Amino acid sequence: MAGLEDLYREIILDHYRSPRNRGELPVPPAHKVEGFNPLCGDEVVLFLDVDPETDTVRDVKIAGQGCSISQASTSMMSAAVKGKPLSEVRQLIRAFKALMSIHESKLEGDGGDGSDLAAELAGVRLGDLEALQGVVKFPVRIKCATLAWNTLQQALDETAQTQA
Ligand code: ZN
Repeated sequence: MAGLEDLYREIILDHYRSPRNRGELPVPPAHKVEGFNPLCGDEVVLFLDVDPETDTVRDVKIAGQGCSISQASTSMMSAAVKGKPLSEVRQLIRAFKALMSIHESKLEGDGGDGSDLAAELAGVRLGDLEALQGVVKFPVRIKCATLAWNTLQQALDETAQTQA
């Protein structure tokens, strides 16, 4: 069971036990988006409040439930994007997905060296989020880790549409 030691790294456990930014925000001004991972039963309810004046994430709250990986990833995501300009948030989404898909493509042995993705990652500091790299050893869990980020992407897209 040595693999599980990597999977449940200290940081992941910490976020799972003490999830950041739990709660709800009034809608509007916040935007509410729900994400679901049917493979595992994970559910994320994201409340995203974007300040249209500064294009910055004013506040973010998380509800929902799921496995330890999905919950920890959601908590880390909320901590990483709170107070950030949307340009940085979009960069983080791309970098995190690249982190996951580099390993995914290696696992699938499609011969790609992931260099395009590596370029996406260059210069982006993922910090704690890199702890989630461990999940790529368990391909079925990758969707657990990316759920929060796909939900965030959807929230950003929908927010942009409302403001347009
Ligand atoms: Zn899960």
